[in-house]
Amino acid sequence: AYGFSTVEGGPEKQERVNAVFHRVAERYDVMNDLMSGGMHRAWKAAMVAWLSPPHRFEYRFVDVAGGTGDVAFRIVEATRQRAQGTVVDINASMLGVGAERAIKRKLGENLTFLEGNAEALPLPDNHFDAYTIAFGIRNVPRIGKALEEALRVLKPGGRFLCLEFSEVEIPGLDKVYDAWSFRAIPRIGEIVAKDRESYEYLVESIRRFPNQANFAATIRQAGFERVDYRNLSGGIAAIHSGWKL
Ligand code: SAM
Repeated sequence: AYGFSTVEGGPEKQERVNAVFHRVAERYDVMNDLMSGGMHRAWKAAMVAWLSPPHRFEYRFVDVAGGTGDVAFRIVEATRQRAQGTVVDINASMLGVGAERAIKRKLGENLTFLEGNAEALPLPDNHFDAYTIAFGIRNVPRIGKALEEALRVLKPGGRFLCLEFSEVEIPGLDKVYDAWSFRAIPRIGEIVAKDRESYEYLVESIRRFPNQANFAATIRQAGFERVDYRNLSGGIAAIHSGWKL
């Protein structure tokens, strides 16, 4: 759960993002647990529960910015190992860790790991039943482009689901959350990953990301229908859903 601003950015932003994920790939999963207090697991479970993928063999999904494979593993497991998934990430180091984990979990037959950019997916049109992206869209310099690509690769009737940090909506919780994110996270980054700066960027990027309603509007503008969202842990994170109809 690291990243940078979501304000439209250019290649320099992507280069910085790439450098961070290259540096942290081996420690990524452990840091994710530490920084979210393990909550990212429950949030990913909630995302897959909302997707509720059918247990059929032809079910095809793509998990973009899929990193070390967490969401893809969960989707395949939820279909009793029937779905076929493509994990796309711009960073070969993250994908390398993911591919190894997939083999260890005996999910190698169900998953393909593919290097690619969310803004220009190396994938055919109208191909997938679902497009998922977890803690990824915030890192993409041009979110509009990524949403256009999501719409392109989905089949008509396909589902878009995005899990991302969002705006805390519970009074009181926002103060605790501020203390955690501005003080604890950079400190954990400094001690465990020896990289305070990357974690300061993480916190900044979360603050700059649009809130639930604004992000829903952006998804609608991109052409998705029946756009809706659910808050997780009082809005610390949210899942946005949309359909290509
Ligand atoms: N989805 C995984 C999870 O929830 O554990 C990984 C999330 S990690 C915070 C963000 C991922 O986004 C990194 O693996 C990074 O390489 C990837 N990423 C950043 N920019 C990207 C882009 N333009 N296209 C595809 N992936 C990108």
